[in-house]
Amino acid sequence: MVAGCGADNRLLERVAEVYDWLELQIHRSDNLSGVCKCCGDCCDFEAFDHRLFVTLPELTYLAAYLGAENIKAMPSGRCPYNIDGKCGVHEHRFAGCRIFCCSGDAAFQGELSEAVLARLKSICTEFRIPYRYTDLTTALNSRRFPW
Ligand code: SF4
Ligand code: SF4
Repeated sequence: MVAGCGADNRLLERVAEVYDWLELQIHRSDNLSGVCKCCGDCCDFEAFDHRLFVTLPELTYLAAYLGAENIKAMPSGRCPYNIDGKCGVHEHRFAGCRIFCCSGDAAFQGELSEAVLARLKSICTEFRIPYRYTDLTTALNSRRFPW
């Protein structure tokens, strides 16, 4: 259960279920999911030439944890939640952060992304919120946030 801050707790629970399911798939396929050394390099999207896309339910989940007023903008190419190379929101990080691993199998990650997005889309339908799949920079810098 995630402590709510205005967001529908059922929505937060549904996102937590998706993340739990995702972690299970990753652990079940550790030969494909790769080994992350937690260096934080891929959280610097510009330097790593990497992009991270997120959905509204995921951002809502993070905002419920941090407090919407504490959602950070992203003025540089590095995720603002990466502090000294470490993820400051590890337990609440996005699906893409969980799936991507530089030493993992790209096809496995692609299939897992599709499966997770289908689940997140289903949450959008259930809770009547728009399905948006937005790069993290745009999402964090959006004046609409937390919508
Ligand atoms: S996925 Fe790779 S680049 Fe990203 S934190 Fe893990 S080891 Fe570092
Ligand atoms: S949320 Fe955490 S893991 Fe994801 S990009 Fe930001 S610092 Fe990296």
